[in-house]
Formats: sequence, structure tokens, C-alpha cells
Amino acid sequence: MANRYQAVLLFGAPGVGKGTQGKILAQIPGFYHFSTGDMFRNLDLSAGIGKEIMAYMSKGELVPDQLTIKLWRENTHARSVLGFYKPHHDILILDGMPRNVKQAEMLEDDINVLAVVHLVCRDKDEMVRRLQRRALKENRQDDAQADVIRRRLHVYEQETAPVLAHYPSDLIYEVDALGSPAYVLQHILEVLVPVQDAHFNNPITGGEPVSTGT
Ligand code: ADP
Repeated sequence: MANRYQAVLLFGAPGVGKGTQGKILAQIPGFYHFSTGDMFRNLDLSAGIGKEIMAYMSKGELVPDQLTIKLWRENTHARSVLGFYKPHHDILILDGMPRNVKQAEMLEDDINVLAVVHLVCRDKDEMVRRLQRRALKENRQDDAQADVIRRRLHVYEQETAPVLAHYPSDLIYEVDALGSPAYVLQHILEVLVPVQDAHFNNPITGGEPVSTGT
């Protein structure tokens, strides 16, 4: 248990701005952004396992849990070996993971969750507009079709939203996702700055974050 990655979960529905905020946070020393969606998109999606994964993504379905967790473990380990992610110094900002309760359970030995930042957007139409804009900008086919968008929002409500109940309520921080990226960032940092300070002054680990396994 002492060898877990120290993590913050960026949580919220598709189109709420997790990726946008994750990429900004990645520029701040001490944070490392990891998006499982990007991990999948970076595979060769034209053959083998990548092709299989693409079939799930393009329908708006979740990639199977075992495969997702296996790839995530390998990727995280590789990034730490290569020195991109420094588990002793960086808080892992997990974007898009865990995506259901099963994944949350499977990750229990891998990550120590310091906080869950729940980006909340009650305006569904605005989320759909954001997804459609992103489809044009980033050439994402899972955002281009109305039925796939609807499926993704449904999967979120049915499978992903229940993940929140898996974590203690005092770790969950709701942040209003309707606003400019700077406005949303400000509110995320109000949560994360104290978390980072507490993490690096952790009396149990003597001011050093605990080391990680794998
Ligand atoms: P968004 O946040 O807009 O849903 P992501 O880039 O996080 O976009 O995810 C895109 C797709 O990648 C998902 O619809 C799903 O098919 C797949 N995916 C991402 N993360 C996971 C995960 N943890 N488990 C299973 N599938 C995932």
C-alpha cells in the first residue's frame, strides 16, 4: 500500500473540459497529466489491439477494463522509467480514469487518491456544443456523430458517475465547469494548491511523497 502513485482524479462528463484543464495543469511543476483517451488515441489504431480499441471508442463504448488497466499500468511505468513522470515529485492528474466502479476497485493498489476534482456542467446543450467544436478541431470521430455523443453521455451517467460514491465525500470537490478556461483553472487550483502543499509536507513520508511500485 505504501508504494502507490499519488493521484488526483479529474472527473466529469464528456465535453466538460477535463482534457483542456489537464493540459494546462501539466505545465505546472509537480503535476503530471495522464489522459487514458490520449493513451488510446496514441496507439496504432489501424491494426491489432489498437484496431480493437478503436472499435469501442468509435461507438462511444468503454474499452474493456482488464485491457484498459493493463495498458495504463504499462504506460505509467514506462513514463516513469523514461523520466517523463517522476512519481516521487509529481502528483498524477488522472483524466478519464477510473471510468467505472470496477476500474476504481482495480486501481486501489495502484493509486492513492488525494482529491477528486468533479467538473460540473449542468447545461447539457453546452456540453454537446463543446464536443461538436472539438470534433472539428481535433478530428475526433467519436465526437462527430450525434448518436455517438448521446451514447457517451449515457455511458457516463450509467457507469462513470457512480464512481464518485466509491471515494470518501471529503475528497470530492465540485468545480463549476461553465466559464472560461482561466476561470475554471482558478477554481481547480484553489483545490489543488493545498493538496500539493500537504503532499510535499507529509509528516509520514518526511516531506517526500511516498515512492511508487510497479
Ligand atoms: P471524453 O472525456 O470526452 O469522454 P476521453 O478522451 O476521456 O474523452 O475518452 C474517449 C474514449 O476513450 C471513451 O469514450 C472510451 O471509449 C475510451 N476510454 C477513455 N478512458 C477510458 C477508460 N478509463 N476505460 C475505458 N474506456 C476509456
